[in-house]
Amino acid sequence: MLSLVKPYIAPKEEMMPALEEILYSGYIAMGEAVGNFETKFGNYIDNERVLALNSGTAALHIALCLLNVGNGDEVISTAMTAEPTNTTIALTGAKVVWADVDVKTGLLDPESVRKKITEKTKAIMLVHYAGMVCNMDEFNKISEEFNVPIIEDTAHALGSKYKGKMVGSNSRFTCYSFQAIKHLTTVDGGAISFLNDEDMDEAAKLRWFGLNKKVSRLDNDIKRAGFKYGMNNVNATIGMVQLKHINEVIGRHIENGRYYDSALKNIPGVTLIPYYENTEPSYWLYTLKVENRDDFCRMLKDAGIEASQLHHRSDTHSVFQQSKCDLPALDQFYSEFVHIPCGWWVSDEDRERIVDLIKRGW
Ligand SMILES: *Cc1c(COP(=O)(O)O)cnc(C)c1O
Repeated sequence: MLSLVKPYIAPKEEMMPALEEILYSGYIAMGEAVGNFETKFGNYIDNERVLALNSGTAALHIALCLLNVGNGDEVISTAMTAEPTNTTIALTGAKVVWADVDVKTGLLDPESVRKKITEKTKAIMLVHYAGMVCNMDEFNKISEEFNVPIIEDTAHALGSKYKGKMVGSNSRFTCYSFQAIKHLTTVDGGAISFLNDEDMDEAAKLRWFGLNKKVSRLDNDIKRAGFKYGMNNVNATIGMVQLKHINEVIGRHIENGRYYDSALKNIPGVTLIPYYENTEPSYWLYTLKVENRDDFCRMLKDAGIEASQLHHRSDTHSVFQQSKCDLPALDQFYSEFVHIPCGWWVSDEDRERIVDLIKRGW
């Protein structure tokens, strides 16, 4: 079966010696290797203000904590995402306020977000779903106009661009995931990037119980209790080897995505998704809209190709019951969208076969 997702692990000859060395080095906790990974990853996203964490969930939670989001506050978010985007908001005690999506893209609709802003709004959570980038031109305007910060959940969108720059230095907080099936995996892990040093220093404390690594343990005074959210040297070492291949891995997602963008044009029953001005997707998944989706998925499955929605909309969970509201554009998008395989493991032959099958109809 040609799958929708697959972990990329660098060749054994590169990975195993590095892993063996760190495992028996006597220093496997958060140390130098983590700092080296942060430097390398920072180079990749073109933002040196970055902290490595043990998950993307930790990154989201830290961003919310830095904004002091808590009981009585509201965070505007999307239901068109994986669960951690919104469970982390719930963890703080704040209310998730759903905004609707743009029916053409499935990404948050700036007009809907604008309507949902109140005095209680502490943050806008943007998800670059499947690697497609949100309408940042509009969201930046809204953020400025209402003085509400943006948190970018970019778990799906490493390597995507806004105005020619990597997603990662546009908003006050950008959150990454290195979970198994993401573009870059460290087995499990995450990172958060910042625009200023104060946020970064405070986050560095929150990731390590509230302790300040720059001061000796004896002179430390915890003012705010933190978490145990740091990455360790083992995952960081894996990440460093993985990063050597990041351009070829993400490059292949992008090549395949662009191939579909042109090869799937003008096919009856298929609607392609437009990308916003100044944005370039990194195609973690390829997303399209089809008529008779169940039949479409069955046809591909019979040919050995996985196709599905992969994610379930988040607003149906009981934990978000109080947030229930009408989301007509999401209803519409959700009934039509589907993903087809597009990652580094999809060969030229595979993608041509997929397009041929779709052209023949379902
Ligand atoms: C994977 C993912 C995360 C973070 O997941 P972790 O497993 O904690 O790294 C956050 N948001 C989205 C949309 C994701 O897909």
